[in-house]
Amino acid sequence: MLRIRNLKCFYGRIRAVSGVSLSVRRGEIIALIGANGAGKSTLLNAICGLHPQWNGEILIEKQSLSGLKPPDIVKMGISLVPEGRMLFPPLSVIDNLKLGAYVRYRKKEHREIEGDLGTVLELFPVLKERMKQPAGMLSGGEQQMLAIGRALMARPRLLLLDEPSMGLAPFLVRLILDVLVQLKGQGMTVLLVEQNARAALQIADRGYVLENGKVILDGNASELLTDHDVKRAYLGKD
Ligand code: ATP
Repeated sequence: MLRIRNLKCFYGRIRAVSGVSLSVRRGEIIALIGANGAGKSTLLNAICGLHPQWNGEILIEKQSLSGLKPPDIVKMGISLVPEGRMLFPPLSVIDNLKLGAYVRYRKKEHREIEGDLGTVLELFPVLKERMKQPAGMLSGGEQQMLAIGRALMARPRLLLLDEPSMGLAPFLVRLILDVLVQLKGQGMTVLLVEQNARAALQIADRGYVLENGKVILDGNASELLTDHDVKRAYLGKD
């Protein structure tokens, strides 16, 4: 579904991603792990059109994303759950969700959008209880659920998540990851950036390890979980 070849991303003259190649097959959960500053967020942002300074190849179902703007990329079925959630705090939960469907309102998909709102609220029942509250009043876990729900409202076929576990208690991390597994069961494809490498690899099919803008290792998630170097550098103690 997604193929990246020799991707290089720049901030001015600084190179943050240095020749990354990776692929995501339909229906997979792929974990992208690596330390702070490894280039994970830059890579996700490049896919979404939020970081236009890149060269190389990014293909979705063999179609190039080069030069496309974020709304075009959303229309192609790619949604991002950004680092730090980036909700609209004064707006209600329901309005935040509806904003996720922004490009679809222009296509007059009103009825489908209403249906998808119901589906998202079923997936995250706590959001249903808080539908009319401002997003800024939600707990960290609820905000993360809302950020995922908002991304789903675009009806993506590829969901990109940037550190969804950040700042969450372990039981909430579990809950969020369980939802990703549930979405995979419904046919979703997921590219998951995580510093919580163990949790990410536990639900992933395959993983890539990024270091200083380069893929230094990739393989089946189960192999990476037992890899000596990955254990030492990213997994810490059991
Ligand atoms: P984190 O987990 O901290 O978000 P990351 O793996 O997502 O880390 P990036 O945020 O993609 O890493 O950063 C990759 C590199 O690009 C780092 O060296 C970082 O300092 C640099 N960088 C990120 N944003 C900018 C910017 N706006 N201007 C200049 N350099 C930047």
